[in-house]
Amino acid sequence: MDFELTEELKMLEDMAYKFAQNELGPISHECDVEEKYTPEIVKKAAENGLVGAWVPEEYGGAEAGCLGLAVITEQLSRVDMGIGLNVVAASFGSEAIYLYGSEEQKKRYLPPVCRGEMVSAGAFTEPDAGTDVAGYRTRAVKDGDDYVINGNKMFITNGTVCGFMVVQCITSPEEKRHNSFSMIIVPGDAEGVTRTKIHGKMGVRSSDTGEISFEDVRVPQENLVGQEGRGFYQLMHFFDTTRPMVAAQGLGLSQACLDVSVRYSKERSVFGAPLGNFQLTQAKLTEMAIKIEALRGLVFKAAWLIDEGRPDYTLAAMAKYLSGETAVFCANAALEIHGGYGYIEEYDVQKYYRDAKILELYEGTKEAEIMTIGRFLLSK
Ligand SMILES: Cc1cc2nc3c(=O)[nH]c(=O)nc-3n(C[C@H](O)[C@H](O)[C@H](O)COP(=O)(O)OP(=O)(O)OC[C@H]3O[C@@H](n4cnc5c(N)ncnc54)[C@H](O)[C@@H]3O)c2cc1C
Repeated sequence: MDFELTEELKMLEDMAYKFAQNELGPISHECDVEEKYTPEIVKKAAENGLVGAWVPEEYGGAEAGCLGLAVITEQLSRVDMGIGLNVVAASFGSEAIYLYGSEEQKKRYLPPVCRGEMVSAGAFTEPDAGTDVAGYRTRAVKDGDDYVINGNKMFITNGTVCGFMVVQCITSPEEKRHNSFSMIIVPGDAEGVTRTKIHGKMGVRSSDTGEISFEDVRVPQENLVGQEGRGFYQLMHFFDTTRPMVAAQGLGLSQACLDVSVRYSKERSVFGAPLGNFQLTQAKLTEMAIKIEALRGLVFKAAWLIDEGRPDYTLAAMAKYLSGETAVFCANAALEIHGGYGYIEEYDVQKYYRDAKILELYEGTKEAEIMTIGRFLLSK
């Protein structure tokens, strides 16, 4: 048993953090306030092998695996979770193509994403169904050699900037709910696709989030990803492999909260002594540090198991759950340690507080994670 990152992963960790400090740090505040998505950062990150880093070399990636992706994600999120999301989720949705797509689809779609020429999206959630994954209604009907798609998707990361998206559609309505879905690749600029940017998010404001409608959108049947009627099961497995990445976002954000809190506890004087001298402060810092260390172990193990070919969906759900809880806890503690200064724009802490909450919502709400873990425990 070895808990050490390999030399290669340590170098990747170091490079990712330096990239984040140099490229994300200086624009962090502006991108947050102005809800600015920055394609040039995605391109630069791709030049450094940070986009689609999990993709094998034969499809243009750095072949760093899910553990490599988790390491990168932690370091980018330590500096800015929203811009970091633009980088690590530039390939979001493409995982489905890698897991289930044909050789031709992998060769066509994965390399341009890894080169930073286009970003992808995974369009699953709908206005009337999020957690209830079998409740989606977007419909794809066969017509000649094509599928004709009608429906709506909601809250889609990269929704208005993606070159293509993997869309979850009902293709076999006559089948039982879980057997009625299929994944279909749709170009972002296909005729009949209308994309609207969602403004006013509480956090990760530099990330692009879109609402997408499909009106008689025609794509060739060769755009089917995997097997017709297996989309629901494919999506479940997709989440098992992407959750460690999302969990690593919370890891980086929590670490950032601890870093600034330790620094501030040394600088700020209260009652004639540094804030850190008081045991109430030490208790907060300690609890943050313990939760972060436990989270790092869980996230890295869940990612490592995927690379070993033994993905563990319960562990991935646990990592994602603990990530949200830890990030929300650490952001709150950091804000309290900063007192009134934590509440104003000049300090990053208020941004961490706003960014943290999304980790309990997307890629499965914390309640959805509990349901997954609970089902597993009771199935034994
Ligand atoms: C910034 C952002 C980015 C996103 N990116 C993407 C993306 O790229 N692709 C994508 O497809 N989606 C994306 N989403 C959508 C996200 O995954 C969903 O919002 C999430 O899954 C919850 O779905 P919902 O909003 O419909 O809530 P609902 O499913 O309506 O849930 C509402 C509440 O009810 C709870 N609940 C639901 N079922 C139960 C139950 N059985 N028992 C108890 N409680 C329950 C939920 O946990 C939640 O607290 C994104 C969302 C946001 C905000």
